[in-house]
Amino acid sequence: MKIAMLARNPNLYTHKRLKEAAEERGHTLDIINTLRCYMNIASRRPEVYYNGEKLVGYDAVIPRIGASITFYGMAVLRQFEMQGVFPLNESVAIGRSRDKLRSMQLLARDGIGLPVTTFAHDPKQTEEVLELAGGAPVVIKLLEGTQGIGVVLADTKRSAKSVVEAFRGAGVNILLQEFIKEAGGTDIRAIVVGGRVVASMMRTGAQGDFRSNLHRGGSAEVIKLSPEERSTAVRAAKAMGLNVCGVDMLRANHGPVVMEVNSSPGLEGVEKATGLDIAGKVIAYMEKHAKPNATKTKGKG
Ligand code: ADP
Ligand code: MG
Repeated sequence: MKIAMLARNPNLYTHKRLKEAAEERGHTLDIINTLRCYMNIASRRPEVYYNGEKLVGYDAVIPRIGASITFYGMAVLRQFEMQGVFPLNESVAIGRSRDKLRSMQLLARDGIGLPVTTFAHDPKQTEEVLELAGGAPVVIKLLEGTQGIGVVLADTKRSAKSVVEAFRGAGVNILLQEFIKEAGGTDIRAIVVGGRVVASMMRTGAQGDFRSNLHRGGSAEVIKLSPEERSTAVRAAKAMGLNVCGVDMLRANHGPVVMEVNSSPGLEGVEKATGLDIAGKVIAYMEKHAKPNATKTKGKG
């Protein structure tokens, strides 16, 4: 296969590993800086240019689009999709996963366990949505946050109200979420590839932090998932329409609840914790599925 990977930094562990895994299996993989692509949105001839050349002949594209460039990155990916190039994850599914509210709605529709999550546009309704979320302590999240930035735990009703007011005053969209205290600052990440959990780890936050993001100094260890956790992860990936993703869950008293589904999961933490070749599994999945015009949406939506 001739693979294009949309990524800005070729030196990131995950990007290096995917390139290595592709080459080991006899493919070529070009790392293409998403922001340096330019497009010709010509009728019936969608084109992508890079460094003065038209990109042609790719069998598959791996989108590794950072949260800060979602808008442009998805437009570039759609150009490939419209050409019939197989995307590891479709632009539509990536778009869903980048919006926490939309993700929660899709997961809820499919009956997947979630922390109680509430949302209001008008800060005048803060009191009501806070009550709906079970009152303080409560977790407050930016709709488009990532790496734990923009996730706040408010211990009291008063602090919750002032955090909500501050965010809303700054014109930022947020959601309120039941605090799953019993998770004890740990969460579970399951990596799903093609409808199967291929690896999982438990992440524990740095001392004193309820957020377990590895980017925030959390640590990872390998764990075995319960059958319920495994099926929850698979169903969450399916609900989002993601072929490859990281499903983050908390162990609540009443079973696993999904917090978010990440469409570009990092591989460093999970490969190091488990010793598994996950990059290889991703490439193997593409070998099986990267047929021309296999995209369902072809840039729609
Ligand atoms: P981000 O997209 O910034 O990673 P998350 O929603 O994944 O945001 O939250 C970051 C971390 O905060 C999670 O990994 C988890 O450890 C903790 N956390 C998030 N939501 C809750 C919650 N409702 N209850 C308890 N802990 C939570
Ligand atoms: Mg997260």
